[in-house]
Amino acid sequence: MGEIQLPIPMSYQGKSIGEISISPLTGSVIADTKKIMDEGMAYEAMRIMVAGCTESIGEATDRPQIREILRRMTYKSAEYVLIKILTLEQNDNKIEGSYPCPHPACGGKVLCQFNEDESLDTSDDISDLEVVRAGENESSFDYDLLDPVTIETGDGEEPINVSSVAINFPTLNDCSMALRKRGQNDHVRLQMGIYQEALTKVGGHEVDTKWKNRYGLRMFEKMKGPDLRALSKEVDKYGLKTELEKHCLKCGTMFHVELDTANFFASALRSH
Ligand SMILES: [Zn+2]
Repeated sequence: MGEIQLPIPMSYQGKSIGEISISPLTGSVIADTKKIMDEGMAYEAMRIMVAGCTESIGEATDRPQIREILRRMTYKSAEYVLIKILTLEQNDNKIEGSYPCPHPACGGKVLCQFNEDESLDTSDDISDLEVVRAGENESSFDYDLLDPVTIETGDGEEPINVSSVAINFPTLNDCSMALRKRGQNDHVRLQMGIYQEALTKVGGHEVDTKWKNRYGLRMFEKMKGPDLRALSKEVDKYGLKTELEKHCLKCGTMFHVELDTANFFASALRSH
């Protein structure tokens, strides 16, 4: 039905998988997705929905194998595939929004509203968004901290100084694990928990699950704002570019806004 190139190819059993073939949503996939979503397992719901609409991924065509492979799909690839699935059947790919102008003296808003009349339509079309793609074997990134941190070990051992980390682009599995440990009501720690799961190296040395469970969250909690913002930018650098430029008509200020794709999914599930 639709062949898609993943923005971040995934590695499975030593092979790189970059292609997925998708089909439109069916009633049972919508029901299964909504059920899991209502249980608070958002990332698992994403996996169920992608799995239910996947005809093949790489060379795999059988259901259990597809579901298994999709655990390794990056969050950003899954987000992209989901939007492709939804736009296969929906004519309505519009995202509306009201974006306050950041100029302190302005108080204006940029309103993006759908209108049947194209000359009056100011909404954003999700199928116009740019896709940024990773290199073929690019599954992680290295990051040097602007402000290195020290973790006290507390068991008589030397404190650990951290000046660099390596992190995989988080997979749906990383996200689900973090959600299970941190819950959905502690957003910032959930985000740091996802980095913890996806962490591979600290100071150039590989770290195992035991290390990550012990020091991972503490390490991210010690990091300063600029480092966390830079990390989040790196994590999100491939996939659908949901940041757009807006122009305030009242004062002329140009500013960047983040489109709300979560809303798009929710309304897509509701409309069935
Ligand atoms: Zn303004």
